[in-house]
Amino acid sequence: MISLEDLSRVVSPDHIRENVSAATLTTFRTGGPVRFVVSPYDTAELVRLIAFLKETETPYFLVGRGSNLLISDRGYNGVLISLRRFFSDVEVRGNEIYAEAGAMLSDVAREALSHNLTGFEFAGGIPGTIGGALYMDAGAYGSEMKNVVKEAEILLPDGTVRIFSNEELDLSYRKSCLSENEGLALSVILSLKPGNHDEIRASMNDLNERRREKQPLEFGSAGSTFKRPEGYFAGKLIEDAGLKGYRVGNACVSEKHAGFVINLGNATSEEILSVVRHVQETVWNRFQVELEPEIRFLGEFE
Ligand SMILES: Cc1cc2nc3c(=O)[nH]c(=O)nc-3n(C[C@H](O)[C@H](O)[C@H](O)COP(=O)(O)OP(=O)(O)OC[C@H]3O[C@@H](n4cnc5c(N)ncnc54)[C@H](O)[C@@H]3O)c2cc1C
Repeated sequence: MISLEDLSRVVSPDHIRENVSAATLTTFRTGGPVRFVVSPYDTAELVRLIAFLKETETPYFLVGRGSNLLISDRGYNGVLISLRRFFSDVEVRGNEIYAEAGAMLSDVAREALSHNLTGFEFAGGIPGTIGGALYMDAGAYGSEMKNVVKEAEILLPDGTVRIFSNEELDLSYRKSCLSENEGLALSVILSLKPGNHDEIRASMNDLNERRREKQPLEFGSAGSTFKRPEGYFAGKLIEDAGLKGYRVGNACVSEKHAGFVINLGNATSEEILSVVRHVQETVWNRFQVELEPEIRFLGEFE
């Protein structure tokens, strides 16, 4: 494993954090120590960093807000790259919004509101970054990133940067071409429409209210744990299988929304994974429907 000294040769030491608890990096609020978290200052530093990590065969992973991520209790013996600190600019250009990948969706939605632009209300309550949302084709309440992304600036594995159009990004329910070709999103341009300020605000308030009513936002989670299986709703299947409240240690299936596995307080990532596996097994045995996790896993699990 590389040392802090090694890493400091390619990125500024001010941009490196060592042994960071994964609980502070994810909305599940679980997981062990992450060896390094690096926040590159610009594309040049990011490209240098990735080249170095590849050369030294150091494992690395790009993290957004960690709102769809379960990191092992053993932590991650590699480098997490975070764009939140230095890649978070948001700029309105006419009916378009340029947002750097580390910008939070809520900040972008607020910016859209303040410029009377409509189309992004759906994303205001999703607690992730633009980059994570693009990777996942995040969506809610009848819309998704696919409907609003014009193009994105992608850093390719060979260190070059290329603009991908909406079509090239190949966005569809909770996936994108980034899932396959390892491209890292640096920025995104959203194409929105002029709207009425009060209506946009009312719609955002309404969606937030619906979230507060339906979702266990007071607990750590990663939102919907599973993807929607074709023709079903994961939450309904889980509820019908009698799994609401199913608990392992301090992790459980939420009573409020069966689609969420939550951290009741001091859960471990293993406990969360045990609940996930039990839910998958029970739903399969009852209904022969396969539940595919929407959440991403990082590090070693039992
Ligand atoms: C309470 C709650 C409610 C939620 N509601 C919704 C919802 O309504 N709809 C929905 O779709 N999701 C929802 N989620 C899940 C999650 O917020 C989204 O999937 C979000 O888009 C993830 O963004 P992130 O920045 O946290 O990504 P992370 O969890 O940090 O990462 C997710 C994946 O994206 C990749 N990634 C991150 N940044 C980049 C980048 N710049 N370039 C390339 N890849 C990148 C990561 O490598 C990882 O594979 C919810 C989560 C919570 C906790």
